Amino acid sequence: MGRYKNSDTLRGVKILVIFLFLVVSRGDCRVLVISVDGLRPDAVTTLGPELVPNFYRLRKEGAFTDNARTDYDYTTTLPNHTSMVTSRPVLGEDGHGLTVNSGGITTRVHVKGYTAGMFDVAHDHGYSTALFAGKAKLLAYQGSYDEVNGAPDETGVDHGRNKLDHAVYNGASPTLVTDFMTSMLEKRWDLSFLHLKAPDVAGHGFDWNLTPGSLYLASIQEVDGYLGQIFDMLDAHVELLGVPHVILTTDHGGTRGTRTHTTPDLPTNYTIPFYVWGPGVKEGADLYFLNPGFVDPGVSRPEFHSPGSPVRSTMVGNLALQLMGLPAIPGSSANLSQQFRVNDPPDFQSLYPGLNPDLDANRNGLKNFTDYLLGADPLGEDRPDLLPEMDGKFLVVSLRHNVTDVAPHVEISADGRIWGPLLEGVTFLRREARETPEGVRLTLEVPALLPRIFLRQVMKSGR
Ligand SMILES: [Zn+2]
Repeated sequence: MGRYKNSDTLRGVKILVIFLFLVVSRGDCRVLVISVDGLRPDAVTTLGPELVPNFYRLRKEGAFTDNARTDYDYTTTLPNHTSMVTSRPVLGEDGHGLTVNSGGITTRVHVKGYTAGMFDVAHDHGYSTALFAGKAKLLAYQGSYDEVNGAPDETGVDHGRNKLDHAVYNGASPTLVTDFMTSMLEKRWDLSFLHLKAPDVAGHGFDWNLTPGSLYLASIQEVDGYLGQIFDMLDAHVELLGVPHVILTTDHGGTRGTRTHTTPDLPTNYTIPFYVWGPGVKEGADLYFLNPGFVDPGVSRPEFHSPGSPVRSTMVGNLALQLMGLPAIPGSSANLSQQFRVNDPPDFQSLYPGLNPDLDANRNGLKNFTDYLLGADPLGEDRPDLLPEMDGKFLVVSLRHNVTDVAPHVEISADGRIWGPLLEGVTFLRREARETPEGVRLTLEVPALLPRIFLRQVMKSGR
């Protein structure tokens, strides 16, 4: 096996580190979600950095893709914004079920029973929340999460049923943006949602036309101006507001010649941009590059639960909470694991100064076991010899028969530096080893007692 030759460079005892982040460390960052209604990704690239410098600031300083997807079944305003806020698809078992595209403060998102959203989780954890809507229909969230229709707060201190501390609709975007900035400086909203409608209005009125001088492109420049005002405010008030994370995406694109965007199987309607900007976000990075588990769909339209999910606007709610260090929305499904990456994996040496950096052969951090065992990139292999996976609270390690130089012995650490034995009843509850046709399957039931634990498997070298 060619791969084993790499083990010659390792010490006689090879170590293998599994890291389990059982609780993500709590962040202290505000998040501003901006939805630019009817924004086509190619409108930004058609205009370019000279004409829309603030969109390009998001691209240069943040991570993004021009090939994200809307919901599978819907490309309309209220259903798709509801997907953003709740991190659920529109239809299906886990869908929120709000299919109408009209409404207002009397509209409820609780079509299939109470439907929690990002405002619930943030507010229940004591963070302040605000909505600035450019269309009255988005006041559905104010009405759905008020002191009557919001759920009781059962998380720690009771912050009440009203999940939105502030909600305003203003059809005049310049005033809405000014109101947003004034309000932000006064109240320092932890989680805010700003809806800018200009491209949608231009598209419906004058076509989603990308030729120079079109009113649609002019509306993108108008939005770029608002982004510039917001960046100026943020730059000038770092002491007051910190540097927030900004997530910018849209509910749908729009199709030339139709003056609409309601057909969900048209690429021009379902292809949308997704930008993330802020502390720790990898500058200029492609979100698909940072997230190998998400697959760039090309021009296709993958179903919501198909394997190799594309980046979707539906992820907004759970990503916003992830960036705030908060758990996912109960009952949601998009980015439910909150493992979406906006930066590189942690640098191996900074995380584990006591360990030999050569063990991380492909420099991708602690991504997998086989890095450590073989010094090779198992992502490039069809059949890794050693495969770890979490199955609920069980850690399952499968060793193939042809791995002859391995005598598994597992140790545990809270910091990745000081290691001790793994004791049944203390650090794991139950251990089960089973022979399978392919090899050995080792299952450990791991109690979630520590905020973070590391397990390593000591390998006896056969060479
Ligand atoms: Zn529209």
